[in-house]
Amino acid sequence: MPCEVKPRFVVLYGSQKGQAESIAEGIAEAAQEHGLVAELSCLNQKEKYNLEEENAPVVFVVSTTGDGEPPDNALQFVRGIKKKTLSTDHYKHLCYALLALGDTNYANFCNCGKTIERRLQELGAKQFYATGYADDGVGLELTVDPWIEGLWKAIKGALTKMDSNQTAHLKGDVEDSSKETLDSSIPDVQLNLLSLTDQQSCKPASPAGSPGLESQSCGTPGTFTSVLKTQTGAAGVPRAALAASLTRSLPPLSESSLNVPALPAPYLDVSLQDVSSCEQITGPLNKETLYEVPISRAVQMTRGDSVKMSLLLELDISAYPTMAYQPGDAFDVYCPNRASEVDNMLHRLGLYDLRNHHALVSLKKDTKKKGAQLPSYIPQNISLLYMLTWCLEIRSVPKKAFLRALVEHTGDSEQRRRLQELCSKQGAADYNLYVRDPSLSVLELLTAFPSCSPPLSLLIEHLPKLQSRPYSAASSRLRHPGKLHFVFSVVELAACSGRPVGRQGLCTGWLLDLTNPDLAFPGKAESSSSPALPRIHVSLRANCAFRPPSDPSVPFIMVGPGTGVAPFIGFLQQRENERRENPGAIFGETWLFFGCRHRDRDYLFREELEGFVSNGTLNQLKVCFSRDAQEEEEAATSAVWPRYVQHNLQLNRQHITDILFKQNGYLYVCGDAKNMAKDVNDALVEMIKKELQVDQLEAMKRLAGLREEKRYLQDIWG
Ligand code: FAD
Repeated sequence: MPCEVKPRFVVLYGSQKGQAESIAEGIAEAAQEHGLVAELSCLNQKEKYNLEEENAPVVFVVSTTGDGEPPDNALQFVRGIKKKTLSTDHYKHLCYALLALGDTNYANFCNCGKTIERRLQELGAKQFYATGYADDGVGLELTVDPWIEGLWKAIKGALTKMDSNQTAHLKGDVEDSSKETLDSSIPDVQLNLLSLTDQQSCKPASPAGSPGLESQSCGTPGTFTSVLKTQTGAAGVPRAALAASLTRSLPPLSESSLNVPALPAPYLDVSLQDVSSCEQITGPLNKETLYEVPISRAVQMTRGDSVKMSLLLELDISAYPTMAYQPGDAFDVYCPNRASEVDNMLHRLGLYDLRNHHALVSLKKDTKKKGAQLPSYIPQNISLLYMLTWCLEIRSVPKKAFLRALVEHTGDSEQRRRLQELCSKQGAADYNLYVRDPSLSVLELLTAFPSCSPPLSLLIEHLPKLQSRPYSAASSRLRHPGKLHFVFSVVELAACSGRPVGRQGLCTGWLLDLTNPDLAFPGKAESSSSPALPRIHVSLRANCAFRPPSDPSVPFIMVGPGTGVAPFIGFLQQRENERRENPGAIFGETWLFFGCRHRDRDYLFREELEGFVSNGTLNQLKVCFSRDAQEEEEAATSAVWPRYVQHNLQLNRQHITDILFKQNGYLYVCGDAKNMAKDVNDALVEMIKKELQVDQLEAMKRLAGLREEKRYLQDIWG
């Protein structure tokens, strides 16, 4: 029999935290079921693909990071395609589809994807499928899943157009789509979303390997390749009498057929060896490239009855003159997983007694996973204990593919069914409610599903790299030579189904523990040589875009509620110093909008800010208190009492628009990405409309113009 050559296409990804990478891998893995061969590469693996000569369809999956930046591993590619010397027909031969990942809580949503798309089009490439813009703010899967569902038909249509020989053996929907032109066949992602229920009319066929699972007989859409048969509730227990929870569902979900993701192919083997030569290393990975610094001061910034506790930590960086940070820069803190959680995980895996064994990770010889690679963040010659403490984010929220894989290692049938529900299309709302929104960790999940016993290799395949946590510098070196301050709120994750007791954020809880119970050294232990001072590993994370105006005569406005005020303390300390040293110089006006809950409980840096006002460094300090507002309102004569920073901006809109549009001033926004940055942005549009007497569209354009001129800058997190 002649060997059938399957048509090929290329999948390229740019990924910062691994989400785009795992989606791209999912596409590459699913290709086979669709009679296709995918060639998967990271955008920075230039030796593995050649777009200049590519004649197969190319699928890009790219995320966006920071303030609209490409992920590190896509930077070089983006720079390359931006070159002005490229002609407008450079990619005339190229036919592409693009899935952009982003988060609407941040400015420049999906900017990297949009940039690549714009350049591909400018360089003559043709799109064969409408671009998907997936929003992590609401759940990537809402766009990703339908987008992938529609992708297969689009690829086959594109292949038919591009090379009829290649698609000779493709069936069914291929012929249909081949009748369309490339451009007119671009499916609309929104339409795909709406037509999902129609597509689900595919009938399940014969039972496959897993009990209760049936493989689909037709055009298996997207990542969803299996349909689970309807099951009834636990015998004798009236479902309606029970409340839904992480481990229990109610009708209709509990009685629904399920579409679950394809089972990810295992690709790692781990052997634990009792080798005496196994080096007992401690501390973060690559610690020789980091700065190890003492915490020389810890100050609680909020009153005991404040909803959130904020701390200011001072690092003694005097031993490292190269750590020359500027106001606006941030730095990364490297923290370990909690020892108690690592121990629990070891017990849960039944590996506690082997924790000091050498963990040797290798690729499975017969793996079906496309482009399988060893995780680069797991060094050789480390113990299992070290791996779980410093390499893997054991607190990470399990993705649906992970849940799907866990099903295979779960003995109890009710628990299996619930895990299947949580990763199914039909159970998407439950996944969000019980897993994603409360940030349920893998360990919490395993505790809730006691019959689930995954092998260590599965955890390594699915747990991401333990990430460092960035914090904004809250000081200027001019004011505090040899010191670096930062301020943070201790993250409190509430108890939920699957988490009987609330817990603190990993890094903020760790920093609190390091400095507690006494917060023992407020201003006293200045000596870095004291052995009692806790030490942490950090690295500098310069943010050249978020700096005070280089011309000191230019006015600027800062908006930083809560810990978002941090970089502005650095800005103002620097300005105060410059004013002292240049008494004759002209300095532009400075405004700061700050907000917190209560004047007396969580007004961070109150004394310092009031000091800046009284010595003229800060011209306008506008503060609002969201929870004091009601009492204040009663006393106020003004009809509009500012509750949040955006309200105070509105109240000062004439001055602000003057500074921005008449005096070429700057606007900086820092802090919570979830609501504040969006609300501030909306308020600015309203202010521009009113003050410049323009319509909504024109106001948005003016604001976008400020952004392009780098005079509207954001440094937001969430
Ligand atoms: P994790 O264990 O990572 O958090 C667990 C979960 O809690 C997360 O999945 C998330 O859903 C939720 N969560 C995360 N942050 C918050 C929050 N603030 N409130 C409520 N829930 C949350 N933080 C500061 O406090 N001060 C800063 O100056 C600061 N600067 C930053 C600068 C940059 C450039 C970036 C990207 C982030 C900055 N952050 C800052 C956020 C900081 O890096 C951490 O994300 C934060 O401290 C939580 O870390 P954690 O390990 O304690 O929580």
